[in-house]
Amino acid sequence: MATEREVTIEQFREQLWEAKVGRRIDEVVVHHTWRPSASEYRGIETVRGVRRYHMGVRGWSDNGYHIMIGPDGRVFLCRPLHRAGAHTAGRNAHTIGLALIANFDCDDPETYGGLPAAHQVVAALLKRFDLRPRAIRFHREFAPKTCPGLKLRLPEFRDDVADAVASVDGGRPKIVLLPGSETVDCNARVEEGVTRVDLRALAEALGWSVHDHIDDQGKVYLSR
Ligand SMILES: [Zn+2]
Repeated sequence: MATEREVTIEQFREQLWEAKVGRRIDEVVVHHTWRPSASEYRGIETVRGVRRYHMGVRGWSDNGYHIMIGPDGRVFLCRPLHRAGAHTAGRNAHTIGLALIANFDCDDPETYGGLPAAHQVVAALLKRFDLRPRAIRFHREFAPKTCPGLKLRLPEFRDDVADAVASVDGGRPKIVLLPGSETVDCNARVEEGVTRVDLRALAEALGWSVHDHIDDQGKVYLSR
């Protein structure tokens, strides 16, 4: 059933990590709604209105966007990520569509309260799908329109998302051990395509201990 749901940034990150997406994701395409603009925003009712328009007028199966963000920074999950969106003609198969509820041809990004949330959400998407900031695209790159609005600049948006990625990496993300889905805080992160963890925390969670001594050949010893 087509529906929408509000989540906090923390819930978004957790659910994103657990979600089975089942299609390759190469890019995140950013949009603005244009109509409604920021001043016409009425919380989740606005999100429902966009879905009803997409379903009733456009004839789509659901909201065309996967994620919508309000000028108050609220994050709404719309079309499930495992399904291709309907937001960028010819580019829906391997992208995620995110829409800011705004008209950035007129609305000022400087005073728009939803951008920090958007940067966090896109940062989480980049991490989840192991993408670089250049995977962030604006709709106008693929269509003769201004979307997501003339006042929004892609290089700045990418830089702001990169800053958000760095600030999350500065935290201590967990790693999930299967089976049993136990989570371990071992500072898991991806660097240059290599997943790195703090060995001691992970080893101890597995019931092993790490010897402090590193031998001449640089070997680290673990024991039960
Ligand atoms: Zn668009």
